[in-house]
Amino acid sequence: MKLYSRMLVGGALAAAVGLSAIAAHAQAETYPTRTITMIVPFAAGGPTDVISRIVTGHMAQTLGQTIVIENVVGAGGTTASARAARAANDGYTLITGHMGTHAASVPLYPSLAYHPQKDFEPVSLLAGTPILILARKDFPPKDLKEFVTYVKANVEKVNAAHAGVGSVSHVSCQLLNSILDIKPTGVPFNGTGPAMNALVGGQVDYMCDQIVNAVPQINGGTIKAYAIATPERNPSLPGVPTTAEAGLPAFQAQAWNAIFAPKGTPAPIIAKLNAAAVKALDDEGVRKRLLDLGSVIPAAGQRTPEALAALVKGEIEKWTPVLKPATN
Ligand code: ASP
Repeated sequence: MKLYSRMLVGGALAAAVGLSAIAAHAQAETYPTRTITMIVPFAAGGPTDVISRIVTGHMAQTLGQTIVIENVVGAGGTTASARAARAANDGYTLITGHMGTHAASVPLYPSLAYHPQKDFEPVSLLAGTPILILARKDFPPKDLKEFVTYVKANVEKVNAAHAGVGSVSHVSCQLLNSILDIKPTGVPFNGTGPAMNALVGGQVDYMCDQIVNAVPQINGGTIKAYAIATPERNPSLPGVPTTAEAGLPAFQAQAWNAIFAPKGTPAPIIAKLNAAAVKALDDEGVRKRLLDLGSVIPAAGQRTPEALAALVKGEIEKWTPVLKPATN
């Protein structure tokens, strides 16, 4: 009797699991049937926001649904990432993360409310973003060598803008500052969109940031760029020397932005999102906009969820021994 009732319960459970699998499959087949929210973990106008808007604009056409960008700021992008990790895993809430939110935050925040690997499904890498050393246009040093001498001599009075602890701008300037053995005052913003406005307005001295929103400002002469921290110059900024050319070869930094979904989002939905992102990255208009802003468009093999999972793993391994829990 006992065995029989257990069999009945077992049968009912199996049927329920089977039904929910069928329901999930049906849901994935018709996905998407309504608006998708893309969380951007920084303020509007910064690199993460700009890249997200360019790519999701095209993805929305492919998917036949609107993708709304929601800027959720705070704590170097970790507030938004924690929220995305807890969102329903139905494909209607996604996040554009980056090297900070999905790698460097792990060693920097000992009680991080999410884990980039355990709480997310990788969807697709969107762009590589070289890092530049930037300054307000009237900052006294005229090249990188003078910059190094100047910030070392004036460390008490210079400040560096960033987008919060664990952001790309924070982590890359931490790296630069450790090479120079200085600890200037950090000035946090909700993203490097507003940080760039402060740099243009002369309210902060320097910043290390992803190339994307720097290109128009550098070309417009509203800020200075001392060097790009990649082995090659960038075609969008042919006049900006590499850190090696400018005398600081030890400073090498490149970031990236990528789409993630909450863990457990059904595989067919991830596949649809990935296909839409890949199609966007192959579109001439999207490519031109990304390239004009200095981004590096990932090659086909770098756009798969598996490649993004490997990138996140590698980046966490790279940053964990380098970064200590941070306080500024
Ligand atoms: N680039 C920024 C960072 O420092 C964030 C942003 O995209 O606004 O992480």
